[in-house]
Amino acid sequence: PNAYQTLDSAGRPIIAFTLPLIAEARNADELAFVMGHEAAHHIASHIPRQQQEATTGALILGVLTAATGGDETAIRTAQNLGGTIGARRYAKDYELEADALGTILAWDAGYDPERGAAFFARIPDPGNRFLGTHPPNAARIDTVRRTLASLQ
Ligand SMILES: [Zn+2]
Repeated sequence: PNAYQTLDSAGRPIIAFTLPLIAEARNADELAFVMGHEAAHHIASHIPRQQQEATTGALILGVLTAATGGDETAIRTAQNLGGTIGARRYAKDYELEADALGTILAWDAGYDPERGAAFFARIPDPGNRFLGTHPPNAARIDTVRRTLASLQ
């Protein structure tokens, strides 16, 4: 089960749901919350921001490796590593930002974001791994509750 956001070849936003995600959703609030979350990634420009951070990370590690005498292979490896670290550095922050904005979007559309966020309780908790792309489920549900409290 997965949902994600991307851009088409003309740069227009796409929000995609896999069929298993739709099948696993228990109510319209859950689907509305996931859609709000993915739309929030677009609204907050997370794709271009992440690309810029990847470029910056690749540049920094590439220059450092060159400055310390690394050969061409070492520089290329460092650039790839820097790109990965750069892209993932803020990934958890982006997820929580999308949860907060997604809560507002679902609420404004007439759905119950807290009921929708119950979806997290059924998916495996990623924990708090270093450079993991998703925050722990408890942090996500806490973000939804705090955002919702500010709306009511
Ligand atoms: Zn997300």
